[in-house]
Amino acid sequence: MDKLTALKTYFGHGAFRPGQEPVIDALLAGRDVLAVMPTGAGKSACYQIPAVLLGGVTLVVSPLISLMQDQVAALQEEGIPAACLHSGQDEIAARTAAAQALRGGCRVLYVAPERLETNGFLALAARLDVRLVAVDEAHCVSQWGQDFRPSYLKIAAFLARLPRRVPVGAFTATATEQVRQDIIRLLGLRDPLCLTTGFDRPNLYFAVERPRDKERYVEEYILDHPGKSGIVYCATRKTVESLCRELRAAGIPATRYHAGLEAEERAKNQEDFVYDRRRVMVATNAFGMGIDKSNVSFVLHYNMPKNLENYYQEAGRAGRDGEKAECVLLFSLGDVQTARYFIENGRDNEELTPAEDEAARARDLERLDRMVGYCKTTRCLRGYLLNYFGESHAGKCGNCGNCRGDFVETDITTEAQKILSGLARIEKRWPGGLGVVALVQMLRGSRDQNTLRRGLDELPTYGIMKSTPPGRMRQYLDALEEQGYILPAGGEFPVLRLGAKAGGVLFRGEKVTMTERAATRREQQAGRRAARSKTAARAAAQTAGDSLFERLRDLRSELAQAHHVPAYVIFSNAALAEMAEKRPRTTGDFMRISGVGEVKARRYGAAFLRAIAEYSAAEPAD
Ligand code: ADP
Ligand code: ZN
Repeated sequence: MDKLTALKTYFGHGAFRPGQEPVIDALLAGRDVLAVMPTGAGKSACYQIPAVLLGGVTLVVSPLISLMQDQVAALQEEGIPAACLHSGQDEIAARTAAAQALRGGCRVLYVAPERLETNGFLALAARLDVRLVAVDEAHCVSQWGQDFRPSYLKIAAFLARLPRRVPVGAFTATATEQVRQDIIRLLGLRDPLCLTTGFDRPNLYFAVERPRDKERYVEEYILDHPGKSGIVYCATRKTVESLCRELRAAGIPATRYHAGLEAEERAKNQEDFVYDRRRVMVATNAFGMGIDKSNVSFVLHYNMPKNLENYYQEAGRAGRDGEKAECVLLFSLGDVQTARYFIENGRDNEELTPAEDEAARARDLERLDRMVGYCKTTRCLRGYLLNYFGESHAGKCGNCGNCRGDFVETDITTEAQKILSGLARIEKRWPGGLGVVALVQMLRGSRDQNTLRRGLDELPTYGIMKSTPPGRMRQYLDALEEQGYILPAGGEFPVLRLGAKAGGVLFRGEKVTMTERAATRREQQAGRRAARSKTAARAAAQTAGDSLFERLRDLRSELAQAHHVPAYVIFSNAALAEMAEKRPRTTGDFMRISGVGEVKARRYGAAFLRAIAEYSAAEPAD
């Protein structure tokens, strides 16, 4: 069998996605691989197809039990014998899996990294015909990465103890140059093929919103997307609790996940979400790594994450089935303070020296700045993200909040003159400079202690912007900073400095503008309402044409319940949509649907073909 036949036969896909082919070829030829591919790109197939073609056993090191179990279920559905070994199993389950592997009844064996060191597993591995080792979430080996796991450091020693060195494939969705080097070094990869596929996810729509009432926004958003499954990420457990309660009170089938819940409840809630019993998951960032649910239609961020790596990974859990999906970040300035607080007061990493720890925090603050930049930019959001991950981009994607939004240029020359001359006065009086708070208080004529103690009320610029609300003030300052009129100078207490361009405004009457959204707050709310009725209309129009899709989705749920697997393991939404559109009548037609492999066609084909035939027969002819 060749690799394309394997792709078609087992996974039901007609063509490879970018990056899959070279990775598979390299592994088949016995070469190590480091593949950096975004979430949803199809990394699993990169080692599962070689597993099928190489025969013997492919070991997959994977950090999360939930992920393993889903993958094993999915592989079995596809007709590939698989099993897993991890600490969450009882003795009997572990022995059964081992026996199955020894009998040759297991093509893919998932194993938790802690297992690798145990003598029992080493003895088992020595007796198995291991032909390939895949390391999933390989960035966990690096302390530079977000999810460092010490047990990953043992993988190299394990590889060395196998009877013979087999090709190793390392896979991750997030890796800067530094992390890539760490993976190669710490896993001991030998002359690996290093492949990074594009990070762009064209089916994802990105937006940043600044709603006054976030809770209300989330509630309306979810009600606007009936029947859709999504995740709402919050910064704290407390927010998860209160938001989840509110949503339920509004009749939304939501569940929750955070590290403060009992393991049992976490597992149950996760399962409810994965099996589509609850369509909304409200969670902290403890949720999601290894969640392999492909039909997530939206990911909302109630709070801003602390860096873009986290954001892109979390947002990237939307739309893995390739369907259109939305990623909306709800920004407020308070989030910046919260994130800063977490970074500055976070737990020390005991494995780092104080100096290293200091450096790590400084790096984290830098990353935070770029994250805030994403929230504030008026440029294309996709372009911003891709640039951050080192990819160039044309700069106008047409599918993000900023590309679609209306912006206007507002003349802020007068305001800029006031602010900059205020800053100039402060610089003269306080050569060391003062922070942004002092400047704003002075300009707004505040009577607070610090302002008065410093004598800022004696400056001629004191109170010249009395009537400007603080939020508006912030926007002016952001705009001036973005354009280089003001430079923030770092240090423990950041101060503001006049930029070189400021002179032009102060002395030569140069014009300053600011790009901002065309809609004011009130208009935005009206717009949301209008959008809502538009969505409702669209949804109504869709249901008319989509009832076959609905019917197939119901059938999928029934089958999922009966077979005890998550619904998307049977067929993705994309596959159902294609069935509804093409209405296959024969098994041959059915197998031409992307996502329908041989085993699934045999197992489910009859039921789906019957449903489609019945539906077509009942339809009035026109
Ligand atoms: P990753 O592990 O990279 O996040 P997955 O391996 O879970 O991504 O794959 C994501 C989705 O893409 C799955 O639903 C999978 O069936 C689908 N997929 C993988 N390869 C292909 C392909 N060549 N053509 C179409 N769909 C694919
Ligand atoms: Zn864009």
